[in-house]
Amino acid sequence: MTYQTINPYTNETVATFPDATIAEVDAAIAAAHSAFLAWRETPFSTRTAVLAKAAELLRAERRRYAELVTLEMGKVIGEAEAEVDLSADILQYYAEHGESLLETITVPVAFAAEGEVEIVSQPLGVLLSVEPWNFPYYQVVRVAGPQLLAGNTILLKHASNVPQAAAMFDDLFERAGLPAGAFKNLYLPHNLTEHVIDDPRVRGVALTGSEEAGAIIAAYAAKAVKKSTLELGGSDAFVVLGDADIDKTVQWAVFGRHWNAGQVCVSAKRLIVVDEVFDEFLEKYRAGVTALKMGDPMDPATTLAPLSSQGAADKLAVQVEKAITGGARAETLGEKVPATGAFYQPTILTGMTSANPSYYEEFFGPVSIIIRVQDEAEAIAVANDSPFGLGGSVFTRDTVNGEKVARKIETGMVYVNHPTMVKADIPFGGVKHSGYGHELTNLGIQEFINKKVIDIVDIDAAF
Ligand code: NAP
Repeated sequence: MTYQTINPYTNETVATFPDATIAEVDAAIAAAHSAFLAWRETPFSTRTAVLAKAAELLRAERRRYAELVTLEMGKVIGEAEAEVDLSADILQYYAEHGESLLETITVPVAFAAEGEVEIVSQPLGVLLSVEPWNFPYYQVVRVAGPQLLAGNTILLKHASNVPQAAAMFDDLFERAGLPAGAFKNLYLPHNLTEHVIDDPRVRGVALTGSEEAGAIIAAYAAKAVKKSTLELGGSDAFVVLGDADIDKTVQWAVFGRHWNAGQVCVSAKRLIVVDEVFDEFLEKYRAGVTALKMGDPMDPATTLAPLSSQGAADKLAVQVEKAITGGARAETLGEKVPATGAFYQPTILTGMTSANPSYYEEFFGPVSIIIRVQDEAEAIAVANDSPFGLGGSVFTRDTVNGEKVARKIETGMVYVNHPTMVKADIPFGGVKHSGYGHELTNLGIQEFINKKVIDIVDIDAAF
């Protein structure tokens, strides 16, 4: 059994689910393709109504959905509720704006013989969506919302530790009125991934996850000559300039590094602070982290959740040991972690240099790398000295200069005076080893669309 619900707060196995067989996978592909042929002809008004209804159902049963996520991957209940809201917002966004984002474009032509040229947006077909556990609903909706609205159909391969959150979508979309086959969760074993991507009816794959998984799955897609998008890891710089409001910046830093127990692709993983405010920032940051409260993620008073699994906590411990061996200093903070559950003691790493092999790694949990720099120029250089290019932020009272610094940071997203945000109406995507392609808004919906050129020529004009 690969797919299991294990409560990371207690480490108890709650439920297990068998892998899909090849016959089940083939049946799902056939059903998704057959659904696609009808769904692409279905009026936008019907597709819109399905998304709007799914958003309504999520909001109406917010608490139930949130509790399931907290059970399976341990995030604190308030954050789980916020994730349900965000997922509903994304569905609603595409219900309201999706059709207009795909409007036919008339191309102005300079010569009469070129005819009347238009670009129509048409869906590609069945898509495979491979998603991670850290936002079990939001990650799925980022692909399913726009792509279902566009007329594509979806096969979901979710992370093996959130099988019930994955199955929830079959039920949600069915209740929202989506035709059978148009969305299907599969407990797909890794050794059948290539089989799915190879199938001629499957026209693309969207993956969010690690660099390793992204490279494997994008290679399958490339071999089969199919479109892929990759949303991978990150090590976001959180740059603090000398004129920043330190008290508010520290609050954002503590939040930016510790929400979702530090397991966010756009967590503020590297805090890069200029010398003149470094000591004040560090002292206040220590106090902020120390005040976090670990405990039952269902308890609204808990502010620092367990990690998603004991395996994730063990992996982080090994990474921190390696960083120390490489020359970093580790300082643990806060009350001692609870005896059971996949908790990790909040840790600050200082003395990290580019000579330390860990310097270029992504730490997925409550571990803060804090780097002292002389000035703004060095802060930018350090921010860019990363294999990743996902998000980042700059804290300064001078927002005009903040915008200039943001332009110099080599990532897909930079926020001034806020950690990297996730919102329904802001596009999301990275560069470098953080992947390629976008999700959300107009950019996301265009990823799996045939921008078809149709040219109507007057037969008498050409000759
Ligand atoms: P992961 O191991 O790559 O898992 C992500 C998904 O890929 C899971 O569904 C996983 O399934 C699947 N997968 C992994 N190897 C596979 C293979 N060989 N064949 C088929 N499927 C495979 O990622 P993770 O470590 O759990 O998740 C955290 C990573 O995701 C971090 O690096 C984080 O930064 C990144 N992330 C990026 C974004 C973004 O938008 N850029 C957002 C969130 C997270 P199994 O569970 O069955 O292995």
